[in-house]
Amino acid sequence: MSIRPVRIGNQIIGDDFVVIAGPCSIESANHFSEVAHQVKDSGATMLRGGMFKLRTDPDTFQGAGREAFEWVAAVKKSTGLPFVSEITDPRQIGDMVSLVDAFQVGSRNMHNYDLLKELGRTQTPVILKRGFSGLIKEWLLAADYVVKGGNDQVILCERGIRTFETTTRNTMDINAIAWIKKHTPFPILADPSHGTGLTELVTPVALAAAAAGADGLMIEVHPEPTKALSDGFQALTYPQFSELMTKLRRVLSAVDRKWATP
Ligand code: PEP
Ligand code: MN
Repeated sequence: MSIRPVRIGNQIIGDDFVVIAGPCSIESANHFSEVAHQVKDSGATMLRGGMFKLRTDPDTFQGAGREAFEWVAAVKKSTGLPFVSEITDPRQIGDMVSLVDAFQVGSRNMHNYDLLKELGRTQTPVILKRGFSGLIKEWLLAADYVVKGGNDQVILCERGIRTFETTTRNTMDINAIAWIKKHTPFPILADPSHGTGLTELVTPVALAAAAAGADGLMIEVHPEPTKALSDGFQALTYPQFSELMTKLRRVLSAVDRKWATP
């Protein structure tokens, strides 16, 4: 099926290959600025960073929230890169719409149809992550909620599903990436950070997803993963991220894909 490319800032997802990178959570102004400049230097073309976090354990860090808006605005200005961040509640739309270049809908909210309907009323691109127990069919119906609301700028993101396997946090469904490419008009990103849940597996699975036809990657990076306020066990350090970028260039050229330029 022919793809419907989606523009995010100066990038066209579904055309050149994009790499969205940044911390799981934005921890402070300096933390986000440092990570953003480091990943940009290694070739990332877009930034990510969570401000509103949906954590399994209520006693863990829940995100810097609105306090991070100023930090993000400054980093967007200094890097010139587009920024994507998770929205967890329709009441955040008004405040976030002028800050983010795309809304990310997290795995836990794939079935939150009221949120999807509200995002359908905006003209901002939506990156819709797959629910960790979501069927491909349900994921596409969730995407339809946004499209039918009037916003067809939807990008899907495979982030791993829950299976009987517990050795890894999730099981990255590479099948889904190839299937989405073949049967739907949506661009598809791969998130091997959540898809594997283990730093040592992020690079090999990222390369596999790129070879399988993903339109881009979303990767979590942290200067000191053991000190991260969320998802440190799956974060890449700066040298690991830079090494991934080097390997990715080779894989993309082998499958005739062009790298996006910032
Ligand atoms: C994230 O991107 O940090 C995140 C929470 O992802 P997911 O919704 O896929 O768990
Ligand atoms: Mn995370």
